Amino acid sequence: MHHSQNQNSPVKQNSGQHKSGQHVAVIGAGITGVTTCYALLKRGYNVTVFDRNRYAAMQTSFANGGQLSASNAEVWTQASTILKGLKWMLRKDAPLLVNPSPSWHKYSWMAEFVGNIPQYKNNTVETTRLAVAAREHLYRWAADENIDFDHETRGILHFHTDKKGFDHASRVNKLLAEGGLERFAVTPDEMRAIEPNLVGDFYGGFYTPSDATGDIHKYTRGLAEACMKLGAQFHFDAKVTSVASDASGARVEFNAAGSANSETLSCDAMVICAGVGSRQFAAQLGDRVNIYPVKGYSITVALDDQSSKDAAPWVSLLDDDAKIVTSRLGHDRFRVAGTAEFNGVNMDIRDDRIQPLTQWVRRYFPGVNTDKVVPWAGLRPMMPNMMPRVGAGKQARVFYNTGHGHLGWTLSAATAELLGDAVLAGLPPKLTPGIAAGGARGVQPQPVLDQVG
Ligand SMILES: Cc1cc2nc3c(=O)[nH]c(=O)nc-3n(C[C@H](O)[C@H](O)[C@H](O)COP(=O)(O)OP(=O)(O)OC[C@H]3O[C@@H](n4cnc5c(N)ncnc54)[C@H](O)[C@@H]3O)c2cc1C
Repeated sequence: MHHSQNQNSPVKQNSGQHKSGQHVAVIGAGITGVTTCYALLKRGYNVTVFDRNRYAAMQTSFANGGQLSASNAEVWTQASTILKGLKWMLRKDAPLLVNPSPSWHKYSWMAEFVGNIPQYKNNTVETTRLAVAAREHLYRWAADENIDFDHETRGILHFHTDKKGFDHASRVNKLLAEGGLERFAVTPDEMRAIEPNLVGDFYGGFYTPSDATGDIHKYTRGLAEACMKLGAQFHFDAKVTSVASDASGARVEFNAAGSANSETLSCDAMVICAGVGSRQFAAQLGDRVNIYPVKGYSITVALDDQSSKDAAPWVSLLDDDAKIVTSRLGHDRFRVAGTAEFNGVNMDIRDDRIQPLTQWVRRYFPGVNTDKVVPWAGLRPMMPNMMPRVGAGKQARVFYNTGHGHLGWTLSAATAELLGDAVLAGLPPKLTPGIAAGGARGVQPQPVLDQVG
C-alpha cells in the first residue's frame, strides 16, 4: 500500500521545492536523523523523517553532556579501559559499570571491542578529524537557520588530579594534534585563571580553546523546524515496524499513534538514524551494525539564585578521573553528565548513579545550590570500534548514519555531510520513462567510514 496522508497522522509539513524529485526516508529524529535530513534537503532531496516520539530529540539527544568536544575524541578501545572496568565492577559509584548477568549481545560486543584495540590510534585520529570538520557546518547551520542553542565558545578544560592521568593525556595530545586539534597543557594556576570558579587540588590539565558547548535538544528541535520550512515531512508518534529495500525501491512500514492499521511509505532510499534501534533495522536489511546501548546519566542543576549563577562555571570541564563532563547552558542551567553502564536497553534512572553527579557539583562548586536538580538517563548508540557507521548498506537504496556513541553531538554535522555525499554518489538516478532499468545503474555504493562486517 502506498502511503496516503491520513487526517489523524501527526505529519508536520511545509511546502518546498525539490530539485531531484527523489524521495528519501530517514528513520529517527535525534541529532543524527535531523542533521541528515538537513544535509539531504540541501542536496535537493525530498525527505520524510519518522520518529516514534511526539517531538524531535526526545531520546539520547535530549539532555546529554552538551560538549562539542574534539578534545574528547579519544576512543575507549584500550587495554586500560578493560582493566579499569574490571576494577570498577566492585564499586557502586564507578564511572564504568557492567551488569554481570549473562547476555550474548553484551559479551559478543565486548569481545569485538577488545578486537578493536589495535585500531585505537587510527580511530582516535580519525574521530578528531571528523569532530574538527563538524564545527564549521554545525555553527553555520545554526546561524543560517537562526537557532538559539545556548552555544558557549569558551573552550573545554580537562583536569587531572594525578600524574598518571596527566601523562596519559599528554600521549593522547599527540593523536589529537595529528587529527588537527590544538590542546594545551596548563598548570593548576593557569586552570584557575581559565575558570576562576573551579575549587580543588589538581595535578594539571589541558585546555582546548576551540571546543564549545550547547544544548543538543534545542539545536535538534530548531533544525527540525528549519527542515519543515524547507519542505521536509515529519511523522511523529510513528513507530517504524519494518523496513525493506531492493532495486525497485525502499519501503518503510509504520504505525501512526492512534491508528490500528500500519501504513507503508514507498520511496527511493532510506537512511537509518535510529540510535540504539538501528541494529534491529540493519538486521532486517541484511547488514550487521553492532550497536550496544551504553547508558549514561546527567543532571541539570537549576541556577535560580544569583549566588548559584555566580558560582557555576562558564568554561566547560572534563574531569578525566571521574569521566564527568559539564556544560553551562545559558545563565540558569548547569549540566553535568557521566557514567558508562552496560545493562541493555534500560531507561531506569538510578539514584546511586545520580548521587555521584550531585556530589561532584558540591565538591568542585560548593557555592552552587543543588536543591533543584533534574536527573536524566540516555543510551549511547555505541559501535565496538567506537566509529560511527556512515554510508551505504549491502542492499540498494539503504544508507546508515548511526552508532555515534559518546560523541554524537560533536560529530553529527560532519557525518550528515558525509552521508549526504554518499547518497548523492550511491542512489541510482530516478528512472525516467523510456530509460531501461539497466540504464539507471548508479555508482556502486561504498561504505564511507566503518565497514559492515
Ligand atoms: C549521558 C550522556 C552524555 C553525553 N554527552 C555527550 C557530549 O557531551 N557530547 C557529545 O558529542 N555526545 C554526547 N553524548 C552522546 C550523544 O548524546 C549521542 O551520540 C547522540 O545523542 C545520539 O544521537 P542519535 O540521533 O544517533 O540517537 P537518538 O537521539 O536516540 O535518536 C534516535 C531516534 O530514533 C528513534 N527511533 C528508534 N527506533 C524507532 C522506531 N522503531 N520507530 C520510530 N523511531 C525510532 C528514537 O525515538 C530516537 O528519537 C552523550 C550521551 C549520553 C547518554
